[in-house]
Amino acid sequence: MAKSGGLTTRGPRNLLRQIREALAGGTGGAAVASAQQRLDLVVGIIARSMVAEVCSIYLRRASGELELFATEGLNPEAVHNTRLRPGEGLVGEVARLAQPVSLSNAPEHPSFSYRPETGEDPFNAFLGAPLLRGGRAIGVLVVQNRAARVYDEDELEDIQNIAMVLSETVASGGLLAEAELRDVELAPHRPERLSGQKFAEGLAVGRAVLHEAPVPPDKLLADDPVIEEQRLRKGLADLKSGIDLLLEGGQGKLNGTPYEVLETYRMFADDRGWNRSLEEAVRSGLTAEAAVDRVRNEHRARFASARDPYIRERLHDFEDLANRLLRVLMGDDPHDRQLPDDAILVARNLGPADLLEYPRSKLKGLLLEEGSPAGHAAIVARALQIPCVGRLSGLRDRLSEGDPLIVDGETGEAYLRPRPDMLTAVQSRMGVREQRRAEFDQLRDTPAITMDGTRITLLTNAGLAVDLENLDMTGAEGIGLFRTEFQFMVADELPRLTAQTALYKLVLDAAGERQVTFRTLDIGGDKILPYLEPDREENPALGRRAIRLGLDRPALLRMQLRALLAAAAGRELRVMFPMIAAVEEFRRARDLVDREIEWARRRGRNLPRTIRVGAMIECPSLLWHLDALLPLTDFVSIGTNDLMQYMFAADRTNPRVADRYDPMSPPALRALREIRQRCSDHDTPVSICGELAGKPLEAFALIALGFNRLSAPASGVGPVKRMILSADLKAARRGIEPLLASSASSVRGELETLARKLNLAV
Ligand code: PEP
Ligand code: MG
Repeated sequence: MAKSGGLTTRGPRNLLRQIREALAGGTGGAAVASAQQRLDLVVGIIARSMVAEVCSIYLRRASGELELFATEGLNPEAVHNTRLRPGEGLVGEVARLAQPVSLSNAPEHPSFSYRPETGEDPFNAFLGAPLLRGGRAIGVLVVQNRAARVYDEDELEDIQNIAMVLSETVASGGLLAEAELRDVELAPHRPERLSGQKFAEGLAVGRAVLHEAPVPPDKLLADDPVIEEQRLRKGLADLKSGIDLLLEGGQGKLNGTPYEVLETYRMFADDRGWNRSLEEAVRSGLTAEAAVDRVRNEHRARFASARDPYIRERLHDFEDLANRLLRVLMGDDPHDRQLPDDAILVARNLGPADLLEYPRSKLKGLLLEEGSPAGHAAIVARALQIPCVGRLSGLRDRLSEGDPLIVDGETGEAYLRPRPDMLTAVQSRMGVREQRRAEFDQLRDTPAITMDGTRITLLTNAGLAVDLENLDMTGAEGIGLFRTEFQFMVADELPRLTAQTALYKLVLDAAGERQVTFRTLDIGGDKILPYLEPDREENPALGRRAIRLGLDRPALLRMQLRALLAAAAGRELRVMFPMIAAVEEFRRARDLVDREIEWARRRGRNLPRTIRVGAMIECPSLLWHLDALLPLTDFVSIGTNDLMQYMFAADRTNPRVADRYDPMSPPALRALREIRQRCSDHDTPVSICGELAGKPLEAFALIALGFNRLSAPASGVGPVKRMILSADLKAARRGIEPLLASSASSVRGELETLARKLNLAV
């Protein structure tokens, strides 16, 4: 059928504008009284423009029923009376599929359901499009014609655009009053609880802020489609070149996305279907942003029910790509985002640097659909003391921006749109936590001494300027691990010597008499610096990480050592190297320290009072070469996060394997005991600075193994101190001995029993 008088001839943009005006409450200055009248007006406009005899809008009630809200052409009596059960009729089919349905002879379709009250018997042709929100159908827009006509591609495109404008306007509250919408399910609005995994301790109550911001309804319609098309083209080109830049490792916004994912993005960015859908959406009158949003919603809807993990993964990739394109188009910079004061950031996954881009003061919590507790985003969340729950599958589909949320970092759960009683319960738990925190505050100046008199040195891990406040707040005796790479990660380019020196000075000043152990740059794995390490690596965790990079690019390491020596002038400097896998590496690294000392001396620079150089034990290879390594070191520190990942060959950032093995297992505990014993033999001070040191039960095992220097994340210092104060170390040592001989893969249960038996505060 020819499309005479259809949207293309009248201009889809005009139509969309008319609809928007009608929805806004007035056309040409004539104010329209009620929402119902406005909806009636809209269906009239659509029917006329699409040369359809019928146009109807159905909205979904919370019961799942689709209620006829407005119609042109059907019996007006049916409005608010006709309700279709979920899946009932063709309208139900459109909602179920979340896709448009076009039929020339509707009554013949098996799903056709005849409702006499509507008087729809004479209509043969049917075109329905879902009103989508977050990949869910919140309603259906239908046009019908008497003649058994075939709707063409353009009409399909048009009705989807109209449906989008409608759904955005309805969902943003721009059309119907709250009372009218009381149980219309515009967005998921029921309370829900999702179970995930705890990434960072603590509780938070706040409102959802989506890391990928949605498009506001006032940005849906193009003023000038030609300009929008140009914007889209430019946006796509910028998107592609931005990804290329990241792939090449060139200058660019810091990003925690792995290479493989970027490659997939690059491939999808060229996907013809995607590009075509975007162009068509823009040509029909949407802004470039709205086009991206519409296509994203359609993808979501289409794949939402897919069970195949591969397809779901690809859907995520497409979504991320769409989000990236939106950010390019909107020039969205998290620095500039207006966050509410109680923001709970929601994302699929985050790189540590992404997280650092948000203003800390407003971030109350973090919810991730994926991620891993040993990944650096989780470490940064713990460092910032932001409660974080990860691995919440389906999270983003169940949320809208601004939804009330509870982050329960104690149980690893998230509550979406919590009921008031849930809120009260959590607030009272927050009160208890506050009390406990106050107890920890009271312990702040109490030395960590076990009941039977062994002094344990409790230090904290740091890496950001905010951590320095924690030093005083927690009462830690110093910084056992200062992750110098964080400064590099928040910068877009290599921090200069002066900037490095200034930070290290600040740290030492804040620490005063307390010890600080700086770790040299630990880049690689999930800590990516595009401006530094351009090479693609198949296996970054096993790649040119940390000291390997430092030794390959000695100028970089020397600059850092120079900054450290300068900052520590007249004081003690403690510096250690990460990821030492061979004794020779330590020798070479130490040699660079000596060369820098010599360099400074020749220039008459003021040197540190004492210089202690240490190695991190993170690679299992060292376990059998400690007799060669320890005489060369002034101290060592065990990085259990990496040591465990390498011992068990389980990538700490990969959710599928990250916690398949328990460090509270005989092989891991025996390895730790072995290191401790060798260090005693050589009189080498040894500490533990992995996350294990910050968990009371794990720290209990560590002190039972004979470790007396622990460096924990700030949030772990209080709880671990409380545990130490309640510990009978001799009994603990006796108790752990048989566990080391166990054949079980985990002795966590036995440790818990032991802790209970000893009345330990864990
Ligand atoms: C570790 O590996 O345990 C460690 C402390 O270093 P990072 O977590 O920064 O790799
Ligand atoms: Mg490490």
